Formats: sequence, C-alpha cells, structure tokens
Amino acid sequence: MAIELEPLPMLIVLSSPSGGGKSSVCRALLAADPKLQYSVSVTSRPPRPGEVNGRDYWFVSEDEFLKLIEQNAFYEWARVHDNYYGTRRDIVEAKLAQGHDVVMDLDVVGGLTIKKLCDRSVLIYVLPPSLKVLEERLRARGTDPEPVIQKRLRNARHEINFAEKYDFVVINDDLEFTVATIRRIIEAQRYASRNQRVKITGDDALIY
Ligand code: ADP
Ligand code: 5GP
Repeated sequence: MAIELEPLPMLIVLSSPSGGGKSSVCRALLAADPKLQYSVSVTSRPPRPGEVNGRDYWFVSEDEFLKLIEQNAFYEWARVHDNYYGTRRDIVEAKLAQGHDVVMDLDVVGGLTIKKLCDRSVLIYVLPPSLKVLEERLRARGTDPEPVIQKRLRNARHEINFAEKYDFVVINDDLEFTVATIRRIIEAQRYASRNQRVKITGDDALIY
C-alpha cells in the first residue's frame, strides 16, 4: 500500500482507590493484548504474601528508593499511604522503543504527572460501584491488616475526586465488562492522530 499509518506507542495509566480493581484489570488487559506491556514500579513498601519481586514491583528499602530519586532514575514518583512508589525511566523507555504500549498502575499524583510529561498518554480512572463495595473487596482480598484498610478507605474519598481530571472514567461493577470497556478505549486511542504517523510510501512517494 502507498499510504500507511505507523502506530506510535503510548502510555496507558490506570488509577483507582486501593481495592478499586486496577491490578485485576491490568492482569486481564495484559493477558488479552500482546502489544501491551506492564511497567513494573519500584516501591519501598514490603511485599504482600504472594507478591513477586520484578513481577508485581521491584521491592527496595526506603534508602535505596531515595538514592534512585537522587540519581534521577524515575520518570515519576510519589509517596502513597506512607510508602514510596516510582516508575523507572529506563524501563518505560525500553518498552516504548520496542513498540509496546505501556500500562501503568499509578496513584493520581503519578497519573497527572504522566499527563503533563507525555502527549501520547491516556488516563483511565476505575471507580468502585460504592464505598461499601470497596470496603468489602479490600477485606475479601485479605492482603492488608485492619488499620491499613481503614487508612485506604479514608484516602479513597479524597482520591475519587481526581477522577474528573482523567480522560476516561469507568465503574468497575462487573470485571469482565470493565475490561472489555477499557480494551475499547485503548483500541480507539490507537486511532488518535497523535498516536499515529502518516507515511506515504512506494510509488506514491515518488510520483506526487
Ligand atoms: P487494586 O489493584 O485497585 O488495589 P484489586 O485488583 O486488587 O484492586 O482488587 C481488589 C479486590 O477486589 C481483589 O480481591 C479483586 O479480586 C476484587 N475485584 C476486583 N474487581 C472486581 C469486580 N468487578 N467484582 C468483584 N471483585 C472484584
Ligand atoms: P499498592 O500498595 O496497593 O500496591 O499501591 C498503592 C498505590 O500506589 C496505588 O494507588 C498504586 O496505583 C500506586 N502506585 C503503584 N506504583 C506506582 C508508581 O510507580 N508511581 C505512582 N505515582 N504510584 C504508584
């Protein structure tokens, strides 16, 4: 063909209050779409049971995290629920260079930083159907002690206010429906003019 569209990789940010469903949505998106790759963040939070270093997070001490900040290793970082979390610049750049769209699970501070830094980003906020359901899901997940759950619920009210600053907002009632909706959003974003380059090739490039 003589006119082609070259896809330009983008950053896909997912945010929600803790327990809102980001990790579940991310897992399903990555399993369904080989063009997507996950940006594994660095954190000073201790691993939860079942979390694997390098898959869920890169787990480091607070001192190591502060050193990485000094070295300007982070594309963005934030302190959330008393722990540090950050996205490594080199990890994201390598994935974009390979042509992957990069999925990031970030808090709202991180999400808005990415929006400022990168034109080719899409921010998706995942809301729980209610705060009561959020509390039930946090309890059922069974990964956090009660005081941590209480703190996350208190923060949830504040964080939900940021949803309107995101490009898209989806209520995560039925997980399958949520994932299907977010896949449609991603697919549509791939057709945005900022996420593609028009190339005139072959005879068209020579003749006209
Ligand atoms: P986050 O990553 O935002 O903290 P998770 O993906 O860990 O949230 O989800 C919190 C809990 O809720 C998990 O136990 C998950 O299996 C469950 N969950 C997520 N989405 C739904 C949904 N739509 N319906 C029922 N349970 C859900
Ligand atoms: P959790 O401890 O539940 O895994 O994550 C707590 C919060 O930190 C979540 O809101 C999650 O989205 C956010 N988070 C995880 N990684 C990063 C990151 O690299 N940067 C920022 N800004 N937030 C992150």
